[in-house]
Amino acid sequence: MDWHFDNTYARDLGWLGVALAPVPVKEPRVVFVNEPLAVELGLDPQWLRSEAGAAVLAGSAVAEGSEPVAQAYAGHQFGYFSPRLGDGRAHLLGEVIDRHGRRRDIALKGSGRTPFSRGGDGRAAIGPVLREVLISEAMHALGIPTTRSLAAAETGEKVWRDTGPQRGSVLTRVASSHLRVGTLELVRTQGSLDQLRDLVEFVRQRHDPDLAPDDYWGLFEAVADRQADLIARWMSVGFIHGVMNTDNMALSGETIDYGPCAFLDRYDPDTVYSSIDSGGRYRYSAQPTIAGWNLARLAECLLPLIDGEPDALVEEANARVNSFAQKYAARFRVHLAAKIGIDVDSLPEGVDVEQVDRLIGTLLSTMERESLDFTTTFRALAAHLRSTTDSTSAVHPPLLRNSEELAGLTDWIDAWGAIITDPVETAARMDEVNPAYIPRNHLVEEALGAAGSGDFAPFEALLEVIRNPFTERAEWARYAEPAPEQFAATYVTFCGT
Ligand code: AMP
Ligand code: MG
Repeated sequence: MDWHFDNTYARDLGWLGVALAPVPVKEPRVVFVNEPLAVELGLDPQWLRSEAGAAVLAGSAVAEGSEPVAQAYAGHQFGYFSPRLGDGRAHLLGEVIDRHGRRRDIALKGSGRTPFSRGGDGRAAIGPVLREVLISEAMHALGIPTTRSLAAAETGEKVWRDTGPQRGSVLTRVASSHLRVGTLELVRTQGSLDQLRDLVEFVRQRHDPDLAPDDYWGLFEAVADRQADLIARWMSVGFIHGVMNTDNMALSGETIDYGPCAFLDRYDPDTVYSSIDSGGRYRYSAQPTIAGWNLARLAECLLPLIDGEPDALVEEANARVNSFAQKYAARFRVHLAAKIGIDVDSLPEGVDVEQVDRLIGTLLSTMERESLDFTTTFRALAAHLRSTTDSTSAVHPPLLRNSEELAGLTDWIDAWGAIITDPVETAARMDEVNPAYIPRNHLVEEALGAAGSGDFAPFEALLEVIRNPFTERAEWARYAEPAPEQFAATYVTFCGT
């Protein structure tokens, strides 16, 4: 099959990586193909499932027209600079132009050792690979910018992890690009000024072609705008990335690198799931601040390219970095207001944004105090609105139980209800942005556990549910249920290695 690869990264930024084929594996076997995505990319799903397709997706054969490269990057990990990271277990196969004319990277993850592997084996286990499939598909269905998962293939080889031998697996990831803040950090610290300029020009052409080539602040603002909206969207669904190092922040504004990420159950802003984040640097509530911190690193990378008096430049950089907080706050307001049925662009009569902010703030602090489930509460609020006008409206059993929990929100509901003019229409709009189904941690673990022993049925079933997050179905009742108390209290996630 002809993938119609174009390889601008290999061609124009070849010096920023190593030309290298994936490492062949023992027994390629495809276990997942994302058919709608394959079609969007102009690829034949049937072929991807074939023997020849499996060979490419497991890294045993190089796809027609591909010039594989392991990309180099640096990055700040937990606040400390690592000068040499890079694709230690990934290969960019090339770029394809999708049906909408968008350029998309196709990359393998878990595809063998590279010069950037350091002590690692270059491999991935089936659990973390399918975890990325599930969470990235959920994010996409929730309307959140994300890298996508095209396929997962087993290698027929074992990989050794803390938990013992695991089934080796390779993920095919699709991204607007794999350019990260850390990519610029590598070139700023170890490259020449010309290389830095070439890289930034490559970024501009790829993501912000409408900007003038020397509009470096414009590029900074464009990345900051995308991050402000992205993080606000994460917050609005209770998503915790878990490892927001600068090498895991994409300049495209897509969510990238699904390692120890997880969704909140009960609303507690201090929630940390990642086993390696003992200081809580990347806890739920810190994500906007960390995004700002990462953008400061981006600004440092652009400064050498900008003409001006050094002190004035640093002052301007500081001002721009600091303005991220307002950018973020504006996007957070938009997304949280929508969750309670309010459109900030056309506020109800006599309501101002301060009032909306107070309403959001009081709701969240009450949810925290009452330990309410972040996801079901918003569905229950819509159900409550409906019940105020139609006592016969069918309310889903788990949500009904949650509406009893809404007792703690009585005062808040009174204040909110007073500004809602059309309860039924508002409830319908709320249900379009508030998911009934997210990849709940206990369900993800159950699906990955089964897949680890070769049973993919729970994975397939969960995938179907999370691809339809807003459509409640009676037979999916258990997928809307919060995790059992004991599970939620002790849940820990690990980096996808
Ligand atoms: P991550 O936390 O997944 O973003 O990875 C951080 C760095 O570690 C990247 O440079 C990865 O390529 C590298 N890495 C992670 N796992 C492995 C592995 N199993 N083998 C080689 N390199 C790895
Ligand atoms: Mg990474």
